[in-house]
Formats: sequence, structure tokens, C-alpha cells
Amino acid sequence: MTLVLGIESSCDETAAALVTDGRDILAQAIASQEEEHSPYGGVVPEIAARAHAERLAPLIERVLAEAGKTLHDCDAIAATAGPGLIGGVMVGLVTAKALAMASDKPLMAVNHLEGHALSPRLADANLQFPYALLLVSGGHCQILRVEGVGKYQRLATTIDDALGEAFDKTAKILGLGYPGGPAVEKLALAGDPRTVPLPRPLLKSKEPHFSFAGLKSAVLRAHDAGQHGDADIAASFQQAALDCILDRTRRALSTMAPVSALVVAGGVAANQTIRGGLEGLAGEFGLPFTAPPLMLCTDNAAMIAWAGVERMAAGFEPDPLDLKARPRWPLDPDAEPARGAGVKA
Ligand code: AMP
Ligand code: MG
Repeated sequence: MTLVLGIESSCDETAAALVTDGRDILAQAIASQEEEHSPYGGVVPEIAARAHAERLAPLIERVLAEAGKTLHDCDAIAATAGPGLIGGVMVGLVTAKALAMASDKPLMAVNHLEGHALSPRLADANLQFPYALLLVSGGHCQILRVEGVGKYQRLATTIDDALGEAFDKTAKILGLGYPGGPAVEKLALAGDPRTVPLPRPLLKSKEPHFSFAGLKSAVLRAHDAGQHGDADIAASFQQAALDCILDRTRRALSTMAPVSALVVAGGVAANQTIRGGLEGLAGEFGLPFTAPPLMLCTDNAAMIAWAGVERMAAGFEPDPLDLKARPRWPLDPDAEPARGAGVKA
């Protein structure tokens, strides 16, 4: 049995987990920083880094104790080495390096996006490469062809905001607090999605990229105009976002080499309307649809430990202890930058 300790600290969740190559999550713990960041309506990098530094060591101790294991029982220490808020990534990576050095275990540096990309295989032993992955989180919005461990073709990315960001900003405009995705989804249940006319940026455009900045501004204008109730705005926003996601993913699937399944991961995958829409889309292409359980969709350390397991099994070498944390780290370095995109990976 291979046992890997995983560490995640790239955004506002501090997490540790112990995962085996038999797909058992022996223990895991997540400390969310919602309380720290909610007064600001978004994640404050400096506050995040400090909170990671305070919480990570006790979390690691807790998961080891819960699983009845010590560092010496682990075969490797895996940690997110990017992309993400650099202060937080450094806290996790430095901790992993110190543990690796003290216990003489290999360090596996994991790309956070690779953690998301492989997490569906932790949940589903039958999911075979290659599969299409829609990754929709607070910081990322990408469509990838996951071809194997370390082999990713990025077909689409966002040229401005991530989808989770658009949900969070809509929540902020509607005064729903942070994090906003779940609150917008809940309020949308009470609204009519056909009432507020909102744009569908990049709909039908040839390349399958995403854009949500214009939608967000339109939500702000609709709110300020005062002619619509908040629930109708939330429902109309969610519908516009879903229309964009389905159109862009349909475009990507129709240009992509064959895949075994359509998979969604990332925090926004918690959204039932979006899940339902994607399930229908997969059906159009005759593909099975899978989404990891919610606990594996949002940021967590089990997916990082699992990526470590997969990398070891695929024969990747451990990483050197002088490895640098990377604020940006594209999964597919060969992908053409999206036209009009900023420098975000
Ligand atoms: P992650 O970046 O993967 O940790 O996911 C966090 C993001 O997912 C935040 O932007 C949340 O607002 C978003 N999110 C979480 N739950 C939902 C939901 N039910 N509907 C829409 N967005 C959500
Ligand atoms: Mg994430």
C-alpha cells in the first residue's frame, strides 16, 4: 500500500489528508477561512497566508492522529506548489519540505489544477483517460482534455473572470455575502430566470473560451436600475451563466478528440442547475457524466494527496527540496493564450 500525506493551501482553505493508492481517504481535515475574509467580500491574500501558517501544523497532526499513523508510515508528502496566492502556497510547500526532510520521505509537488483534474479518478475507479474536464472554481474556468497523469490539453480558459468569481461578485452586488455561489443558487430558486435580460458573452464564438466580466457588469446595472427583484436577478444570472457554460462546453466537445466521459470539478460543480445542464449536454454526445462528491469538488487536500499517488504510480520523480512555489503554473504550457486574455494561467 502507498500512503501519501497531502497538503493544500493555495487559496482560502487550509487542508491536510491521508490517501492510499487503494483510493481510501484515511483522514482529512479542512479549515475554511470564510470568517476572516467575509468582511472584505473576497479573499485577502495576506490574511490568508497568516491563517494558513497558524492552522496547517495542527491540521496535519490531527489527520495523522485520526488515521493512527505517523509521518514514517507515509510514502511521500504531496503539497500544492501552485498556482495560487503565493503566500499561502509557500506556507504549504515549506511545511511539506520540512516534513519531507525531517522524515526522509520524497516530496511530490502538485499543481493545484492537476489535483482538481485527477480528483474524479479518486472518486471513481472506473474513470479512464482520456476524459473531458470542465474545471469551474473561484479562480479558474477551463476545459481540459485529461489524457493521462501530467498530460493535459487545455482547449478553453476564461479571458477575464472565473465562473465562481462571477457567482461571488453577483452575490456581493445582491448583498448576499461571501462566498456567494451557494447563496446565489439558493436565492435563484425563488426567482424567474426569464425576467432580467442579461448577455451571454462569447456565445457561439468559434473558440470555446469563456468570458464573464460583461455578465457581471450587466448584473450590476440591472440591480442599480431597481426594476427587478433580487431573486429574479439571481435566477437570470444563473441561467445566463449556464447558457454560456453549455454553449462553450458543447463547442469544446465538438472539436476535441474522442473522450470517455464528461467530468465537472471545482467549487461551482456544487451547483445543481449547472450539474443538471451538463448531464444533459453529456447525453447529447452520448457520454457518461460524472462529478466528484462535493467534498472533492471544492479545494481539499485529498485531491492533492491523490495527485501525489497518481504521479508516483506513473513514475514521476520526487521534486527537489529547493523547488519554488509558483503563483502561475499552466497545466498545458503549450496552450495558445486566449485572444484578449490577461496573463492569468
Ligand atoms: P473552489 O475555488 O474550487 O474552492 O470553489 C469555490 C468557488 O465555488 C466560489 O467562487 C464559490 O462561490 C463557488 N461555489 C460554491 N458552491 C457553489 C454553488 N452552489 N453554486 C455556484 N457557485 C458555487
Ligand atoms: Mg481550487
